[in-house]
Amino acid sequence: MFTENDLRELVGYQAQQSMLTIYLNTDPTMGNADSYRLRLRNMLKSVELAADVQQVEEYFDTEDDWAGRSVAIFSDHSKQFFKVFPLAVPVPDLIHIGIRPNVRPLADLLDSYGGYSVVLIDKQGARLFHFHLGQLVEQEGVLGASVRQVKKGGSGVTGMRGGITSQTRGVEETIERNMREVIDFSTKFFEEKHIRRILLSGTDDNIALYRSYLPRMWQSLIVGTFPGSMLASHQEILNKALEIGKKAEKEREDLLIEKLITQSSKQAGAIVGIEPTLKAVNEGRIQTLVIQYGFQAKGFRCPQCNTITSLSEIVCKQCNSEAIGISDVIATAVSLTLKNGGEVDVVHNQPKFEKAGSIGAFLRY
Ligand SMILES: [Zn+2]
Repeated sequence: MFTENDLRELVGYQAQQSMLTIYLNTDPTMGNADSYRLRLRNMLKSVELAADVQQVEEYFDTEDDWAGRSVAIFSDHSKQFFKVFPLAVPVPDLIHIGIRPNVRPLADLLDSYGGYSVVLIDKQGARLFHFHLGQLVEQEGVLGASVRQVKKGGSGVTGMRGGITSQTRGVEETIERNMREVIDFSTKFFEEKHIRRILLSGTDDNIALYRSYLPRMWQSLIVGTFPGSMLASHQEILNKALEIGKKAEKEREDLLIEKLITQSSKQAGAIVGIEPTLKAVNEGRIQTLVIQYGFQAKGFRCPQCNTITSLSEIVCKQCNSEAIGISDVIATAVSLTLKNGGEVDVVHNQPKFEKAGSIGAFLRY
């Protein structure tokens, strides 16, 4: 299971010379094992790191029985560094050779599919699920006292002192007690699992009730609701989580880009365009680096001070060392941003952003 910690570890890694990064889409809907092995061979053909290539090939020759939909591999043979992450969500094929691992697709996945919780609610209890990168990690449940239904006009009730009213009050008290217990259980669950997005399922009434009891900071993480029964299967819940997650992600991205473009036009803590953004990366000023999915650009990197640029500078402006050409300066910008404690946000299908250069950032200062 790939986590934020793994990402930080990869981001902090640096090879002596160069290392190999491979992402291979092994989604069964894309073809069988032979077809992805062929794609892998084609990708590796031009790679000169023989020992790394051999290790990757050996991995795919011996360990092909995972149920995953893609695999990420990072190999630096010179330092005996070899990491494999099978993933339950598909990523496009990618090969990268550089001094650092290329973590962009993984950062993107964490952003879109990391830390989901689905909560199935009724008046008595709840079932809580933790999904991470398309996989069920954990499931827990909480069950309060049973809630007796009040029959309208039923015999033996109307004749009693207090009648329906007092019994209704009793039911309401039970529901309230249950709900407090469920909320207590939920917030502990969200906290422990580092939940970033919450989906609620149940009847409209029960969802509204749960929401009204939930503390505000957790309310803000609710990204969707859907009607569902307490007996829903894992697959049903996962599918719903992925579907609603995608929609919520799209809405969030639209808002983010709107904000980025508005703020940068007012010069209020945001910038767009490749060179101003890379300059801010060099200065360690990035709070959140925003990139259009799939955006790549050639550039230069200084091996001495790590300054990067999209301009064809043969000599580093900072330290006068000889700069080296790199095939994807954006991947390097991502690594440096994460290394400096910033975040990376990858957005999809944003025509306005594409016009502005497909890259931008919110700044720390
Ligand atoms: Zn330099």
